[in-house]
Amino acid sequence: MTFPDRDELEEVLELVAQEARSYVASVDDRPVRSPRTREALEAFNRALPEHGSGASQALRELIDQGLDATVASSGPRCFHFVIGGATPAALAADWWTSALDQIAYAWVSSPLSVELERVALAWLLELFELPASFSGVMTTGATMANFVGLASARQWWSEEMGLDAFETGLAGAPPVPIFCSRIVHASATKCLGMLGLGRATPEVLAREGSNILDVSRLERALDELGDRPAIVMTTAGDPNAGEFDPIAEVAELLRGRRAWLHVDGAFGLFARLDPTTAELVRGVEHADSVAVDGHKWLNVPYDCGFGFVRDRQWLGKSFRYQAEYLPDDVEDEPVLGQLGPESSRRARALSVWATLRAYGREGYRELVTRHCALARRMARLVDEAPDLERLADVTLNVVCFRYDPGGSTEEELDRLNAALGRALIEDGRFYVGSTTFRGRVALRPALSNWRTREEDVDAFVEVVRELGGRLGREARP
Ligand SMILES: *Cc1c(COP(=O)(O)O)cnc(C)c1O
Repeated sequence: MTFPDRDELEEVLELVAQEARSYVASVDDRPVRSPRTREALEAFNRALPEHGSGASQALRELIDQGLDATVASSGPRCFHFVIGGATPAALAADWWTSALDQIAYAWVSSPLSVELERVALAWLLELFELPASFSGVMTTGATMANFVGLASARQWWSEEMGLDAFETGLAGAPPVPIFCSRIVHASATKCLGMLGLGRATPEVLAREGSNILDVSRLERALDELGDRPAIVMTTAGDPNAGEFDPIAEVAELLRGRRAWLHVDGAFGLFARLDPTTAELVRGVEHADSVAVDGHKWLNVPYDCGFGFVRDRQWLGKSFRYQAEYLPDDVEDEPVLGQLGPESSRRARALSVWATLRAYGREGYRELVTRHCALARRMARLVDEAPDLERLADVTLNVVCFRYDPGGSTEEELDRLNAALGRALIEDGRFYVGSTTFRGRVALRPALSNWRTREEDVDAFVEVVRELGGRLGREARP
């Protein structure tokens, strides 16, 4: 076989449909990771074939040899990072997206994708109770959504200073004053590096004995700047323990000042959906830019995020470009490639639209409420277990705790819990890594997959105790 053949399509699509069906039917029960991972990968370590195998053979190999090296991260027992699954509507729409293979670059390249991106972003603004006047663009995730917000902030700052960062750069300009707390996400500071503002630039103003933003220190810092413009980066929901910067207080402080307020609410913005957690993100409606993930709590397939800005002009000014053969961005025929970092883009809007259409505000409210209840259930089980110690309040969907059999030093506990994080991943029944929270090594399961049930949470706590007990005994025979 040397050239793709139309006749191959029927067979490979049928094959994949069948295999995919059986995979998603098994994902509730299959281990998160197979013990055969490394063996499975060996099959792929080959030179470029001179003569191709044809589509069916390639797909068979991909499926048969590759499956053991995947992670069932769309399943109900994957509590590592913050991982969402894919709702039935979102997954099916994602298949359809691949079949249609639309370019969500501009209205001209795909009217449906561009219109659904507009509609879905407007729905998300409603869902998150953000002003309908906000503009947005879909991205690959919260990292690039942070990039969209912070690129807009940079452009705003430069124009406040009589410059144009996007057009001529910031060489020769004074340093950009940027403030954040200790829960700032590493991807947000990475964006500062990507934007030439410097990853290490932000001044961290955390409260005494805490990680979140100290508003009075911020006030003093801004007072010292006098009339100079500044950028304030806040985080709504950090992955370690679900902590939130006091956004409403920060917004109140910034009112009438020359400052840009960015909120990274990758998963934490979803707190807005449940009246009992909405307080955590009060004030986000005053932000100048907001970053959110789609592939986390919205449960659409990877990759998907949303970058929102209060004023659309900053998207245009931060991402504009033209070429003789490209269309212009006009009112009823937008060019999304001129409003965000990517030019050619996947039509992510189809999945987002489909899942919001399928489950509505009510469905997502219930999803958030359920995950918070599951997190509280896990916290209760942790509190009841004599060998587990919770390290943080459960504000939302993250439970930060460690294994502590008693009688160990802090150093021994750190070693034990780091080993436990590795053992859990090796074990494969559940997935959760370790972190360091306020100087202590801890586990930090996050619940955000629509498939996760109470029995998964209960079994997880038992597996942690089982593996912790084994490691503890090995450490002190
Ligand atoms: C996950 C996360 C990010 C990065 O998101 P990606 O989708 O992986 O790019 C940024 N900020 C916060 C708070 C996150 O939880």
